Amino acid sequence: MANQYRQETKCVQSGWQPTNGQPRVLPIIQSTTYKYDSSEQMGRLFDLEESGYFYTRLQNPTNDLVAQKICDLEGGVAAMLTSSGQAANYYAVFNICEAGDHVVMSSTVYGGTFNLLTVTMKKMGIDCTVVDPDASLEELNKAFQENTKCVLAETIANPALVILDIEKFAELAHSHGVPLIVDNTFATPINCRPFEWGADIVTHSTTKYMDGHAMCVGGAIVDSGNFDWTSHAEKFPGLTTPDESYHGVTYTERFGKAAYITKATAQLMRDLGSIQSPQNAFLLNVGLETLALRMERHCANAQAVAEYLEKHEKVAWVKYAGLKSSPYYELAQKYMPKGTCGVISFGLKGGRSAAEKMMDHLKLAAIVTHVADARTCVLHPASHTHRQMTDEQLVEAGVAPDLIRFSVGIENVEDIIEDLEQALQKI
Ligand code: PLP
Repeated sequence: MANQYRQETKCVQSGWQPTNGQPRVLPIIQSTTYKYDSSEQMGRLFDLEESGYFYTRLQNPTNDLVAQKICDLEGGVAAMLTSSGQAANYYAVFNICEAGDHVVMSSTVYGGTFNLLTVTMKKMGIDCTVVDPDASLEELNKAFQENTKCVLAETIANPALVILDIEKFAELAHSHGVPLIVDNTFATPINCRPFEWGADIVTHSTTKYMDGHAMCVGGAIVDSGNFDWTSHAEKFPGLTTPDESYHGVTYTERFGKAAYITKATAQLMRDLGSIQSPQNAFLLNVGLETLALRMERHCANAQAVAEYLEKHEKVAWVKYAGLKSSPYYELAQKYMPKGTCGVISFGLKGGRSAAEKMMDHLKLAAIVTHVADARTCVLHPASHTHRQMTDEQLVEAGVAPDLIRFSVGIENVEDIIEDLEQALQKI
């Protein structure tokens, strides 16, 4: 079985398992519908009494095989693809929260996630308390309420690069009878497997390292199968009581460890429809095949760039958990001993204006609204991805106004450093 292999092998071999005479490469099932011989069988599929495909808004075989690969890489029991990382985080939370519920979220999550929880989902009646991920357990406990349904955080925060103490957060969430949802986009399962440290659900923006080539926006949700919804049945009635929209099916009874992903597919994908296109899933699968190779190079290059920047006279500060000077060095060694990711953040002695000027002089590193792909790229979050945040929120999120987010690619690192050097010389 492919899921018994090591990570590098799973990247290539998990998912599609062709039998005799079938295509060697994962086929793209470019079809919205699936044909059945009897109307009765189609009815059973709709009632979830029989498994099978009936409409690609809910499920598609190409997508499911790629989700299977991500599931194997994370060591989970069930997974699904979504149209974007935003949709993945939205579904992951909304699958177990409704109006009147509450979420505890790390302050350093990606700006889009912060906005999703504190603005958009708030309008839907789901409240959110934002916490400092480095706060003590005693302090963090105060954020919980009777109606808290989950904790949401990122293994490596974008762009603050804070490393989450996963065990601390898992213990915290579990002591309040709720699951820990971790966005593992930046670390990827090559560098960190949050389930091994107690996380219950993992999400991804596959748009980043998993795709790796800046081709397709996508997301994924993986369930560890470890959270016992029935032990906290009163908190999760959507999973533990009959679903009227499926003729009274109770997800935990019928689907056991697959209950969470089945509900997210059968209800949320059916009603909200944020499915990934099978074409994109195919391209994502090609990206996944080289994920382990690329992560190794991203981390080696980023380490060299971080060390170069740290010694540069014009650089005020550098954040990279691979540096011994980083307050997150020890946590990174514990949770991600092979390396963290290719993303570095730094500030210049000349502040925000020097940052903007330096970025304009870069030739190899491109200014793009993207991060974590094969090509080196750069962004100024305060002016770009996080511009909707107030100065106060920026500080809370660990995004200094002068912060330059530098995403180190897989080019020759000497060329990346030479590009930085010529741009720094011009300011
Ligand atoms: N999670 C993290 C950590 C991200 O960095 C991003 C996007 O940058 C997202 C989620 C949202 O993903 P997407 O852009 O695929 O919707």
